[in-house]
Amino acid sequence: EFSLEGKRIWVAGHRGMAGSAIVRRLAREGCEVLTADRAALDLRRQDAVEAWVADRRPDVAFVAAATVGGILANSTRPADFLYDNLVIETNIIHAAHRAGVAKLVFLGSSCIYPRLAAQPMNEDELLTGPLEPTNQWYAIAKIAGIKLCQAYRRQHGCDFVSAMPTNLYGIGDNFDLQGGHVAAALLAKIHRAKVEGLESVEIWGTGSPLREFLYADDLADGLVHLAKHYSDEQHVNIGTGSEVSIRGLAELIADIVGYRGGFRYDAGKPDGAPRKLLDVGRMTALGWTAPTPLREGFASTYRWYLDSLGAGA
Ligand code: GDP
Repeated sequence: EFSLEGKRIWVAGHRGMAGSAIVRRLAREGCEVLTADRAALDLRRQDAVEAWVADRRPDVAFVAAATVGGILANSTRPADFLYDNLVIETNIIHAAHRAGVAKLVFLGSSCIYPRLAAQPMNEDELLTGPLEPTNQWYAIAKIAGIKLCQAYRRQHGCDFVSAMPTNLYGIGDNFDLQGGHVAAALLAKIHRAKVEGLESVEIWGTGSPLREFLYADDLADGLVHLAKHYSDEQHVNIGTGSEVSIRGLAELIADIVGYRGGFRYDAGKPDGAPRKLLDVGRMTALGWTAPTPLREGFASTYRWYLDSLGAGA
């Protein structure tokens, strides 16, 4: 087991949903958490990243920094999604190698797998077929990140591992209706429909795609488990192993929010991948499964969202 106790641990991307959950989880590990604010360190600038890492000397790094967004953001800002993510991961991984970081955990995404991969998708499905076009830019960058970790392990002996989380939701998500992912967007839309007494809520696409949703705090717990118990070059899926349709998700959220109106489906908006369910057998074999049921996770997220609206008012 690799111990985190007493270590200097850099969480890159600590303001994001995944990164902030990692910071909360690390509070139980007796370690020192290092973070850099965006204004102080632009992760896209190689010299700045190398100088920061050389100065702060982390023992461990979690790479949760990324340019992220939902299906619309991905398809309308392809250059940002490809360029930002390629340079951020390249800068961090190379700097970590140069500074002798003992353990690095890189976060990818389940969109690295082919659009029509066999379901549930196990780790060996990587690069077996064409990607889903709407998020291919992000996917290519994340595939390069996996390969960077493997390459630095093979050439330099770095203990850099990769985790592939499924679709995330939770505290600190981006509730922007255009740029956000479906979980947060539907929470925000359905809440507003309830407050304004609207008869229906618009759902993009057909409502039939299937998605798997992991609570961000569960992801953080899984990543800490991986950091302690895994050191190999194969990337590892992190998910729940169960799925729900977009229509089913809308109904679950309506139930939690207490919205009694209906839904309209806008088939002019993309569905994206028809199905994205991870095979979580490898993580299960490592002794970890996601603890938070979907309804409980969404209820907590909704409470947090209501608090955040109150705080902003
Ligand atoms: P994906 O998992 O990479 O496809 O990304 P998203 O989380 O953005 O979207 C998942 C699915 O939710 C797609 O099938 C969308 O068509 C559907 N969807 C329905 N309503 C919304 C919405 O308001 N926002 C987003 N982002 N997706 C939506």
